[in-house]
Amino acid sequence: MDLTSTITLNNGIKIPRLGLGTWLSNGKACEHAVTFALDHGYTLIDTAQAYENEKQVGRGWKASGKAREAISITTKIGNTNQGYNRAKRSFEKSLKNLQTDYVDLLLIHWPNSRKFNETVETWRAMVGLQEAGLCRAIGVSNFTIPLLEELYRQIDVVPAANQVEFHPFLYQKELLVYCQEHQIQIEAYSPLARVKFLDNPVLETVAQKHGKSPAQVMLAWGLHRQLVVIPKSTHETRILENTDVFFALDEADLTALDRLDRGYRLVKGAWAPPTW
Ligand code: NAP
Repeated sequence: MDLTSTITLNNGIKIPRLGLGTWLSNGKACEHAVTFALDHGYTLIDTAQAYENEKQVGRGWKASGKAREAISITTKIGNTNQGYNRAKRSFEKSLKNLQTDYVDLLLIHWPNSRKFNETVETWRAMVGLQEAGLCRAIGVSNFTIPLLEELYRQIDVVPAANQVEFHPFLYQKELLVYCQEHQIQIEAYSPLARVKFLDNPVLETVAQKHGKSPAQVMLAWGLHRQLVVIPKSTHETRILENTDVFFALDEADLTALDRLDRGYRLVKGAWAPPTW
């Protein structure tokens, strides 16, 4: 496995194993991070309407000079854009901002568990957008097992991906197994747990053993657990550091890292599903 490795989604579309996150990445720093990452082997960029940086991502990928087919762009329908018409209209704007005719993966950013019919209507719009060739794959984010089941009970299309918080301190094994059984790819957001635990002694020991950093060990763990990982950085050295993560962890390392799980959830939005 290396930076060019991909994973095949349930509709046959391939997406890279590692990408650049862009939450809190704004302005020129965002543009530069995207261009720099694409110039240094990244092929996947993760953005969202809510990050208000789609324009910067668009400028950043254009400045890289990469062919559109050579890269993979994910964006997400924001909470205020849920509903059939709003989702479609907001997506048109996303395409414009991103300077592209299509995205590779379009996600529902959050499930609206109080008004789930709006989320279902958003999904209906996305199925249409995919059929029209405007997104190559569609998926969800922050969905629990009951919400996934409710979604495809109402519209018989299984999401290609579920982007959720996932790192050794929040090892969501039940969700992972369920998604694997249903061919839903888990994408790990906050795969570095926003650097809260980089001084953890277990991480440090494994890092020392392999001559890597604790951050690199966290990303390598995610790759070993079959996740797509999307660490965010706007700094060149860290953007590069986060690519040197395709090394082998052994069973002892993996067991020690699995045991770091403490159900530690960093992200709890107003729309957090009731069972979190
Ligand atoms: P993260 O990637 O776990 O951590 C990002 C933080 O780590 C930044 O402060 C970054 O700082 C720092 N960092 C990056 N590489 C590092 C390294 N090698 N060593 C030390 N520090 C390092 O957290 P995240 O941004 O929350 O998650 C990643 C991406 O997932 C987001 O950017 C976004 O695209 C996506 N996401 C999605 C959702 C959702 O609801 N779907 C929610 C959260 C995040 P610098 O920038 O200063 O380097």
